[in-house]
Amino acid sequence: MERISWNQYFMAQSKLLSLRSTCTRLMVGATIVRDKRIIAGGYNGSVTGSEHCIDDGCYVVDNHCIRTIHAEINALLQCSKFGVRTDGAEIYITHFPCVHCTKAIIQAGIKKVYYAEDYKNHPYAEELFSQAGVELIQVELDETVLDRDFQKKLQLTTDLLHKLEEAGIEQSELMDLIDQTRALYTPNPSHS
Ligand SMILES: [Zn+2]
Ligand SMILES: [Zn+2]
Repeated sequence: MERISWNQYFMAQSKLLSLRSTCTRLMVGATIVRDKRIIAGGYNGSVTGSEHCIDDGCYVVDNHCIRTIHAEINALLQCSKFGVRTDGAEIYITHFPCVHCTKAIIQAGIKKVYYAEDYKNHPYAEELFSQAGVELIQVELDETVLDRDFQKKLQLTTDLLHKLEEAGIEQSELMDLIDQTRALYTPNPSHS
């Protein structure tokens, strides 16, 4: 039986964390890892005890929501709060980090940055990482690894569509169902 790879496992953890984000402008998750062990995690969220964007709306200044702390910073602050060393650690992020987070990641001594999706990749962030000797690696999350029955479900749906076709349903209706199936079963729908 094939096991989930470490890269997919940590990226999936970040994706899971991103679902806890309280600002829906961009739902980001970050996981800090050392020696294949998770040492901290964070998501885009408000300061503990303050209002959430999802309840009160975003606090937008100059086209940025200033209410939230970015996932990467939250993960680093968790280390600082609990006294966990970040020097030489690695981070898995659902999106390419912004320039502010890039600086914090470098300064915290993180040596490898794995990110799933490109997001407004700033050339200055890339330049800073390269100057600091921090490795930048794109790891796209394959969401099918999270579902052991993925192939079975896909097969069943395909079989059902064939049966519907045989039963003679309207062609336009069938095409619509096929489109919906494609959208649902295509890995990383955010890329399509
Ligand atoms: Zn917000
Ligand atoms: Zn950021």
